[in-house]
Amino acid sequence: PPKMKEDINANGSRSEHGGHGEEVDLAEQSLLNKMIRHSLVRNRNQVEVLQADPTSPLYSVRTFEELRLKPELLKGVYHLGFNRPSRIQENALPMMLAQPPQNLIAQSQSGTGKTAAFSLAMLSHVNTANKWTQCLCIAPTYELALQIGQVIEQMGKFLPDVKLAYAVRGSRMERGVKLQEHIVIGTPGTVLDWCTKYKLIDPKRISLFVLDEADVMIATQGHRDQSIRIHRQLSKECQMLLFSATFEDSVWKFAERVVPDPNIIKLRREEETLDNIKQFYVLCRDKEEKFAALCDLYGSLTVAQAMIFCHTRWMANWLAASLTEEGHQVALLSGEMTVEQRAAVIERFRSGKEKVLVTTNVCSRGIDVEQVTLVVNFDLPTDLEGNADNDTYLHRIGRSGRFGKRGFAINMVENKHGMELIKQIEMHFNRKIHKLDPTNSEEIS
Ligand code: ADP
Repeated sequence: PPKMKEDINANGSRSEHGGHGEEVDLAEQSLLNKMIRHSLVRNRNQVEVLQADPTSPLYSVRTFEELRLKPELLKGVYHLGFNRPSRIQENALPMMLAQPPQNLIAQSQSGTGKTAAFSLAMLSHVNTANKWTQCLCIAPTYELALQIGQVIEQMGKFLPDVKLAYAVRGSRMERGVKLQEHIVIGTPGTVLDWCTKYKLIDPKRISLFVLDEADVMIATQGHRDQSIRIHRQLSKECQMLLFSATFEDSVWKFAERVVPDPNIIKLRREEETLDNIKQFYVLCRDKEEKFAALCDLYGSLTVAQAMIFCHTRWMANWLAASLTEEGHQVALLSGEMTVEQRAAVIERFRSGKEKVLVTTNVCSRGIDVEQVTLVVNFDLPTDLEGNADNDTYLHRIGRSGRFGKRGFAINMVENKHGMELIKQIEMHFNRKIHKLDPTNSEEIS
């Protein structure tokens, strides 16, 4: 089966350019994923564990009880609706809670339970008898820091004595007065100021340091340097935990610098395949003819739910407007929208309020809406040289796992170059793409 480069496929794993200078904002992508996620992503792969000390026994837990948490914390975990630890949590939690403390580098795609794991570790770590900051967590943006804070607040609901502060832009603090909050979450710049300039936190007294979204963090040079400067202030005994959705070499180098003697946990994402996907193409002369063909197919699209991909924002806007003019109800996911707006559009589509979602590739990278059974490539995905972008193609229409639902893909092909691309894609995946007559589309129902 076709394989995909893991690091490209992972949710918003690197910056890239779409048509007309549209660029992925990794932090935004990650935030969007968090906002639309309601549950763990499915992943049946084995967790890979590399221990700092290979001779020490390897612990994993099947239940939260086995962790012997404070009862109030266990209650908070169940309050969030968690019944048992996720794949990655089974191994990560015992390591994170071990005595003496152990360092950890953990990599798994977004939605596998990393944030919940380190939130639990921080809440468990706090000693409320000590009125100073003991746990420090840094995240790439203000919004991501707030998301983490929300998880801690919910999980810590029955631990009212544990206090939390946000070190983010706009938090005004009095210089030199040490914070009493046990946990501080923030962005690197503000955290560094609080440690060094304002002296609100004594970095030597931090005993648990968490660096979340390392891949997103190091994509910004400033954040990378600030993170290293924060890390330098910490004591040698401080426990270090680092998380990342992806692991390119640069992330790895950074992680090893920040986390000495680490245990390493990796969970590879499930490969996507085209095995259960029936693929078609429709040959057209220009975009108007593509539009007409799409209208002919429209009845079949709305039987289930469909996503339509365009190459540029302009095309997505045009197509959504044209479909609306024809009286169709469509949702548009566009790069101009704020993250909140985008999350709302995806929620509406998810709940079935709209059956058709028009979007650009860049905008919807890393978003999976499981009930989508039909994908239309209004424009075929191409790279900067104009060749077929096979990875993006697979990512748009592929399903993970052998038992993924059946799906259909329809490629709108313009002219000879378009047919070239179809041939390239067929060759690459060794799967036939069938010709479809849009006025006779029984094949896709
Ligand atoms: P990540 O940080 O890897 O993106 P999260 O910790 O945000 O993952 O978890 C993803 C989703 O799964 C969240 O909605 C979270 O509430 C939920 N979740 C996390 N751990 C569990 C668990 N053990 N059982 C059920 N749901 C969980």
